[in-house]
Amino acid sequence: MKPFTYVRATSPAEAAAAARRPGARFIAGGTNLLDLMKLEIEAPSHLIDVNGLGFDKIERTAQGGLRIGALVRNTALAADPVVRRDYGVLSRAIVAGASGQLRNKATTGGNLLQRTRCPYFYDTNQACNKRKPGSGCAALGGFSRQLGIIGTSAACIATNPGDMAVALRVLDAVVETVAADGRTRAIPIADFHRLPGTTPHLENALVPGELITAVTLPRPLGGTHLYHKVRDRASYAFALVSVAAVVQRDGTGRVAVGGVAPKPWRVEAAEAALPQGARSVASRLLAGAKPTADNTFKLALVERTLAGVIAEAKA
Ligand code: SF4
Repeated sequence: MKPFTYVRATSPAEAAAAARRPGARFIAGGTNLLDLMKLEIEAPSHLIDVNGLGFDKIERTAQGGLRIGALVRNTALAADPVVRRDYGVLSRAIVAGASGQLRNKATTGGNLLQRTRCPYFYDTNQACNKRKPGSGCAALGGFSRQLGIIGTSAACIATNPGDMAVALRVLDAVVETVAADGRTRAIPIADFHRLPGTTPHLENALVPGELITAVTLPRPLGGTHLYHKVRDRASYAFALVSVAAVVQRDGTGRVAVGGVAPKPWRVEAAEAALPQGARSVASRLLAGAKPTADNTFKLALVERTLAGVIAEAKA
Protein backbone atom coordinates (compact mmCIF):
# COMPACT_ATOMS: atom_id res chain seq x y z
CA MET A 1 0.00 0.00 0.00
CA LYS A 2 1.27 3.49 -0.86
CA PRO A 3 1.78 5.94 2.03
CA PHE A 4 -1.01 8.43 2.68
CA THR A 5 -1.98 11.04 5.23
CA TYR A 6 -5.27 10.99 7.12
CA VAL A 7 -7.53 13.58 8.72
CA ARG A 8 -10.91 13.37 10.49
CA ALA A 9 -13.16 16.16 9.19
CA THR A 10 -15.46 17.71 11.78
CA SER A 11 -17.59 19.82 9.43
CA PRO A 12 -18.59 19.75 5.75
CA ALA A 13 -16.58 22.96 5.22
CA GLU A 14 -13.48 21.34 6.70
CA ALA A 15 -13.97 18.24 4.52
CA ALA A 16 -14.43 20.43 1.46
CA ALA A 17 -11.28 22.40 2.22
CA ALA A 18 -9.27 19.20 2.68
CA ALA A 19 -10.66 17.83 -0.58
CA ARG A 20 -8.90 20.59 -2.53
CA ARG A 21 -5.62 18.87 -1.87
CA PRO A 22 -4.43 16.88 -4.94
CA GLY A 23 -4.89 13.14 -4.51
CA ALA A 24 -7.41 13.54 -1.67
CA ARG A 25 -10.26 11.05 -1.24
CA PHE A 26 -13.16 10.85 1.18
CA ILE A 27 -13.51 7.71 3.26
CA ALA A 28 -16.53 6.54 5.30
CA GLY A 29 -17.09 2.77 5.69
CA GLY A 30 -14.07 2.03 3.51
CA THR A 31 -15.44 -1.39 2.56
CA ASN A 32 -14.36 -1.02 -1.09
CA LEU A 33 -11.73 1.73 -0.99
CA LEU A 34 -9.44 -0.05 1.48
CA ASP A 35 -9.35 -3.19 -0.68
CA LEU A 36 -8.53 -1.07 -3.72
CA MET A 37 -5.76 0.70 -1.81
CA LYS A 38 -4.20 -2.58 -0.67
CA LEU A 39 -4.09 -3.69 -4.31
CA GLU A 40 -2.74 -0.25 -5.33
CA ILE A 41 -5.61 0.13 -7.78
CA GLU A 42 -6.42 3.33 -5.91
CA ALA A 43 -3.59 5.27 -4.32
CA PRO A 44 -4.92 8.43 -2.63
CA SER A 45 -2.25 10.60 -1.05
CA HIS A 46 -4.68 11.98 1.54
CA LEU A 47 -7.76 10.42 3.16
CA ILE A 48 -10.51 12.59 4.61
CA ASP A 49 -12.59 10.65 7.11
CA VAL A 50 -16.16 11.98 6.86
CA ASN A 51 -17.70 9.73 9.52
CA GLY A 52 -18.02 12.64 11.95
CA LEU A 53 -20.09 14.91 9.72
CA GLY A 54 -23.44 13.88 11.17
CA PHE A 55 -25.09 12.71 7.93
CA ASP A 56 -26.45 9.71 9.77
CA LYS A 57 -30.18 10.37 10.12
CA ILE A 58 -33.26 9.10 8.32
CA GLU A 59 -35.92 11.84 8.27
CA ARG A 60 -39.27 12.57 6.67
CA THR A 61 -39.20 15.22 3.95
CA ALA A 62 -41.80 17.99 3.69
CA GLN A 63 -43.01 16.29 0.48
CA GLY A 64 -43.85 13.06 2.34
CA GLY A 65 -40.74 11.20 1.24
CA LEU A 66 -37.61 10.19 3.11
CA ARG A 67 -34.19 11.79 3.41
CA ILE A 68 -31.45 9.26 4.14
CA GLY A 69 -28.14 10.68 5.36
CA ALA A 70 -25.14 9.58 3.33
CA LEU A 71 -23.55 8.02 6.42
CA VAL A 72 -26.52 5.85 7.38
CA ARG A 73 -25.13 2.33 7.50
CA ASN A 74 -26.67 -0.27 5.20
CA THR A 75 -27.78 -2.38 8.17
CA ALA A 76 -29.59 0.55 9.79
CA LEU A 77 -31.26 1.56 6.53
CA ALA A 78 -32.50 -1.94 5.74
CA ALA A 79 -33.87 -2.32 9.28
CA ASP A 80 -35.53 1.09 9.52
CA PRO A 81 -39.27 0.49 10.15
CA VAL A 82 -40.39 3.20 7.71
CA VAL A 83 -38.11 1.86 4.98
CA ARG A 84 -39.35 -1.67 5.58
CA ARG A 85 -42.99 -0.56 5.46
CA ASP A 86 -42.95 2.03 2.66
CA TYR A 87 -39.85 1.23 0.59
CA GLY A 88 -39.57 -2.52 0.99
CA VAL A 89 -37.70 -2.96 -2.29
CA LEU A 90 -34.83 -0.95 -0.81
CA SER A 91 -34.69 -3.00 2.37
CA ARG A 92 -34.77 -6.26 0.40
CA ALA A 93 -32.07 -5.15 -2.02
CA ILE A 94 -29.71 -4.11 0.77
CA VAL A 95 -29.97 -7.38 2.68
CA ALA A 96 -29.33 -9.26 -0.58
CA GLY A 97 -25.90 -7.63 -0.80
CA ALA A 98 -22.52 -8.32 0.81
CA SER A 99 -22.42 -9.80 4.33
CA GLY A 100 -23.76 -8.68 7.71
CA GLN A 101 -20.34 -7.39 8.75
CA LEU A 102 -19.90 -5.37 5.58
CA ARG A 103 -23.42 -3.96 5.79
CA ASN A 104 -22.68 -2.81 9.36
CA LYS A 105 -19.86 -0.62 8.03
CA ALA A 106 -20.96 0.29 4.49
CA THR A 107 -22.74 3.61 4.08
CA THR A 108 -25.52 4.84 1.83
CA GLY A 109 -23.22 7.26 0.01
CA GLY A 110 -20.35 4.82 -0.30
CA ASN A 111 -22.60 2.08 -1.63
CA LEU A 112 -23.37 4.28 -4.64
CA LEU A 113 -19.65 4.73 -5.30
CA GLN A 114 -18.53 1.10 -5.11
CA ARG A 115 -16.50 0.10 -8.12
CA THR A 116 -16.94 -2.76 -10.54
CA ARG A 117 -15.96 -6.32 -9.64
CA CYS A 118 -14.67 -7.08 -13.14
CA PRO A 119 -11.82 -9.54 -12.38
CA TYR A 120 -9.47 -7.82 -14.83
CA PHE A 121 -9.96 -4.49 -13.04
CA TYR A 122 -8.57 -6.13 -9.90
CA ASP A 123 -5.65 -7.84 -11.67
CA THR A 124 -3.03 -5.17 -12.19
CA ASN A 125 -1.17 -7.40 -14.67
CA GLN A 126 -4.09 -7.11 -17.09
CA ALA A 127 -5.06 -4.29 -19.43
CA CYS A 128 -7.98 -2.28 -18.12
CA ASN A 129 -9.25 1.04 -19.48
CA LYS A 130 -11.09 1.72 -16.25
CA ARG A 131 -8.01 1.29 -14.08
CA LYS A 132 -5.53 2.73 -16.59
CA PRO A 133 -7.20 4.76 -19.36
CA GLY A 134 -6.04 3.83 -22.83
CA SER A 135 -4.47 0.52 -21.78
CA GLY A 136 -7.15 -1.69 -23.38
CA CYS A 137 -9.72 -4.12 -22.00
CA ALA A 138 -8.67 -7.66 -21.13
CA ALA A 139 -12.29 -8.67 -20.58
CA LEU A 140 -13.04 -8.29 -24.29
CA GLY A 141 -12.04 -11.69 -25.55
CA GLY A 142 -11.42 -12.81 -21.98
CA PHE A 143 -13.68 -14.47 -19.42
CA SER A 144 -16.80 -12.32 -19.35
CA ARG A 145 -19.52 -14.47 -17.81
CA GLN A 146 -20.20 -11.94 -15.01
CA LEU A 147 -19.93 -8.85 -17.19
CA GLY A 148 -22.35 -6.55 -18.97
CA ILE A 149 -24.72 -7.14 -21.86
CA ILE A 150 -26.16 -3.65 -22.37
CA GLY A 151 -24.96 -0.07 -22.00
CA THR A 152 -21.39 -1.31 -22.46
CA SER A 153 -18.87 0.03 -24.99
CA ALA A 154 -15.86 -1.06 -27.01
CA ALA A 155 -13.72 0.30 -24.17
CA CYS A 156 -15.39 -1.45 -21.20
CA ILE A 157 -18.05 -4.11 -20.57
CA ALA A 158 -18.01 -3.97 -16.76
CA THR A 159 -21.17 -3.93 -14.65
CA ASN A 160 -22.13 -1.84 -11.67
CA PRO A 161 -22.08 -4.35 -8.80
CA GLY A 162 -24.64 -2.66 -6.54
CA ASP A 163 -27.93 -3.98 -5.19
CA MET A 164 -29.06 -0.90 -3.25
CA ALA A 165 -28.65 1.31 -6.33
CA VAL A 166 -31.01 -0.89 -8.37
CA ALA A 167 -33.74 -0.35 -5.80
CA LEU A 168 -33.01 3.38 -5.63
CA ARG A 169 -33.40 3.55 -9.42
CA VAL A 170 -36.84 1.99 -9.25
CA LEU A 171 -37.80 4.44 -6.49
CA ASP A 172 -36.57 7.51 -8.44
CA ALA A 173 -34.18 8.53 -5.67
CA VAL A 174 -32.22 11.77 -5.79
CA VAL A 175 -28.59 12.09 -4.68
CA GLU A 176 -27.79 15.28 -2.74
CA THR A 177 -24.22 16.58 -2.79
CA VAL A 178 -22.06 19.47 -1.66
CA ALA A 179 -19.08 20.59 -3.74
CA ALA A 180 -15.77 21.89 -2.47
CA ASP A 181 -16.94 25.47 -3.11
CA GLY A 182 -20.05 24.89 -0.95
CA ARG A 183 -22.53 24.60 -3.82
CA THR A 184 -25.15 21.90 -3.47
CA ARG A 185 -26.72 19.72 -6.14
CA ALA A 186 -29.61 17.25 -6.38
CA ILE A 187 -28.79 14.58 -8.96
CA PRO A 188 -31.52 12.15 -10.07
CA ILE A 189 -30.27 8.59 -9.62
CA ALA A 190 -30.88 7.98 -13.34
CA ASP A 191 -28.16 10.55 -14.09
CA PHE A 192 -25.78 9.61 -11.28
CA HIS A 193 -23.95 6.63 -12.82
CA ARG A 194 -22.38 7.12 -16.23
CA LEU A 195 -22.14 4.74 -19.17
CA PRO A 196 -18.52 3.96 -20.09
CA GLY A 197 -18.34 5.21 -23.69
CA THR A 198 -14.68 6.03 -24.32
CA THR A 199 -14.05 7.09 -20.69
CA PRO A 200 -14.86 4.12 -18.45
CA HIS A 201 -12.71 5.53 -15.64
CA LEU A 202 -15.39 8.24 -15.15
CA GLU A 203 -18.15 6.34 -13.36
CA ASN A 204 -20.49 8.92 -11.92
CA ALA A 205 -21.63 12.53 -12.09
CA LEU A 206 -19.54 13.77 -9.14
CA VAL A 207 -16.76 16.29 -9.73
CA PRO A 208 -13.50 16.10 -7.72
CA GLY A 209 -14.11 17.11 -4.11
CA GLU A 210 -17.90 16.75 -4.34
CA LEU A 211 -19.36 14.87 -1.36
CA ILE A 212 -22.64 12.94 -1.17
CA THR A 213 -24.63 14.24 1.80
CA ALA A 214 -27.94 12.36 1.46
CA VAL A 215 -30.25 10.35 -0.75
CA THR A 216 -33.89 11.41 -0.89
CA LEU A 217 -36.85 9.24 -1.81
CA PRO A 218 -40.16 10.58 -3.15
CA ARG A 219 -43.48 9.73 -1.50
CA PRO A 220 -44.12 5.98 -1.16
CA LEU A 221 -45.45 4.23 -4.26
CA GLY A 222 -47.55 1.60 -2.51
CA GLY A 223 -47.78 -1.75 -4.29
CA THR A 224 -45.76 -4.91 -3.79
CA HIS A 225 -42.02 -4.43 -3.38
CA LEU A 226 -39.71 -7.21 -4.53
CA TYR A 227 -36.02 -7.80 -5.14
CA HIS A 228 -34.93 -11.04 -6.78
CA LYS A 229 -31.21 -11.69 -7.10
CA VAL A 230 -29.70 -14.56 -9.09
CA ARG A 231 -26.09 -15.40 -8.26
CA ASP A 232 -23.62 -18.24 -8.25
CA ARG A 233 -24.00 -18.99 -4.54
CA ALA A 234 -26.72 -18.24 -2.04
CA SER A 235 -25.01 -15.39 -0.19
CA TYR A 236 -22.05 -13.03 -0.36
CA ALA A 237 -21.94 -12.97 -4.16
CA PHE A 238 -22.60 -10.32 -6.76
CA ALA A 239 -25.63 -10.57 -9.00
CA LEU A 240 -25.56 -12.32 -12.33
CA VAL A 241 -28.97 -10.70 -12.72
CA SER A 242 -31.16 -8.92 -10.20
CA VAL A 243 -34.59 -7.35 -10.56
CA ALA A 244 -36.02 -4.63 -8.33
CA ALA A 245 -39.74 -4.16 -8.77
CA VAL A 246 -42.72 -2.29 -7.41
CA VAL A 247 -45.89 -3.84 -8.80
CA GLN A 248 -49.41 -2.48 -8.30
CA ARG A 249 -52.62 -4.51 -7.93
CA ASP A 250 -53.60 -3.88 -11.57
CA GLY A 251 -50.29 -5.36 -12.80
CA THR A 252 -48.68 -2.05 -13.69
CA GLY A 253 -45.45 -1.06 -12.02
CA ARG A 254 -41.77 -0.34 -12.25
CA VAL A 255 -38.72 -2.55 -12.74
CA ALA A 256 -34.97 -2.02 -12.78
CA VAL A 257 -32.32 -4.64 -13.46
CA GLY A 258 -28.88 -5.11 -11.93
CA GLY A 259 -25.91 -7.22 -12.99
CA VAL A 260 -26.32 -6.48 -16.69
CA ALA A 261 -25.07 -2.95 -17.28
CA PRO A 262 -22.62 -0.29 -16.04
CA LYS A 263 -25.50 1.29 -14.11
CA PRO A 264 -28.81 0.11 -12.69
CA TRP A 265 -30.77 -0.58 -15.88
CA ARG A 266 -34.25 0.82 -16.16
CA VAL A 267 -36.20 1.64 -19.33
CA GLU A 268 -39.41 3.36 -18.31
CA ALA A 269 -41.03 2.66 -21.70
CA ALA A 270 -40.59 -1.09 -21.11
CA GLU A 271 -42.66 -0.93 -17.93
CA ALA A 272 -45.84 -0.30 -19.93
CA ALA A 273 -45.52 -3.95 -21.05
CA LEU A 274 -45.64 -5.35 -17.50
CA PRO A 275 -49.27 -6.50 -17.78
CA GLN A 276 -48.29 -8.43 -20.96
CA GLY A 277 -45.66 -10.42 -19.08
CA ALA A 278 -41.94 -10.90 -18.68
CA ARG A 279 -41.09 -11.61 -22.31
CA SER A 280 -42.62 -8.32 -23.47
CA VAL A 281 -40.83 -6.34 -20.77
CA ALA A 282 -37.47 -8.05 -21.31
CA SER A 283 -37.49 -7.55 -25.07
CA ARG A 284 -37.99 -3.81 -24.60
CA LEU A 285 -35.66 -3.53 -21.63
CA LEU A 286 -32.81 -5.28 -23.42
CA ALA A 287 -33.32 -3.94 -26.94
CA GLY A 288 -29.86 -3.35 -28.42
CA ALA A 289 -28.10 -5.66 -25.95
CA LYS A 290 -24.65 -6.87 -26.99
CA PRO A 291 -23.82 -9.90 -24.88
CA THR A 292 -20.53 -11.75 -25.24
CA ALA A 293 -20.34 -15.46 -26.03
CA ASP A 294 -19.85 -16.05 -22.28
CA ASN A 295 -22.87 -14.14 -21.04
CA THR A 296 -25.61 -14.50 -23.66
CA PHE A 297 -27.40 -16.56 -21.01
CA LYS A 298 -28.19 -13.31 -19.17
CA LEU A 299 -30.80 -12.43 -21.82
CA ALA A 300 -32.89 -15.45 -20.85
CA LEU A 301 -32.03 -15.02 -17.18
CA VAL A 302 -33.42 -11.48 -17.11
CA GLU A 303 -36.69 -12.71 -18.63
CA ARG A 304 -36.96 -15.60 -16.16
CA THR A 305 -36.13 -13.41 -13.18
CA LEU A 306 -38.74 -10.91 -14.31
CA ALA A 307 -41.25 -13.75 -14.68
CA GLY A 308 -40.52 -14.81 -11.11
CA VAL A 309 -41.06 -11.28 -9.84
CA ILE A 310 -44.34 -10.90 -11.72
CA ALA A 311 -45.59 -14.27 -10.46
CA GLU A 312 -44.73 -13.41 -6.85
CA ALA A 313 -46.41 -10.03 -7.14
CA LYS A 314 -49.63 -11.75 -8.32
CA ALA A 315 -49.55 -14.44 -5.62
FE1 SF4 B 1 -11.40 -2.92 -17.24
FE2 SF4 B 1 -13.91 -2.53 -17.99
FE3 SF4 B 1 -12.38 -4.08 -19.44
FE4 SF4 B 1 -13.11 -4.90 -16.99
S1 SF4 B 1 -14.46 -4.57 -18.73
S2 SF4 B 1 -11.06 -5.02 -17.93
S3 SF4 B 1 -13.21 -2.94 -15.90
S4 SF4 B 1 -12.07 -1.89 -19.09
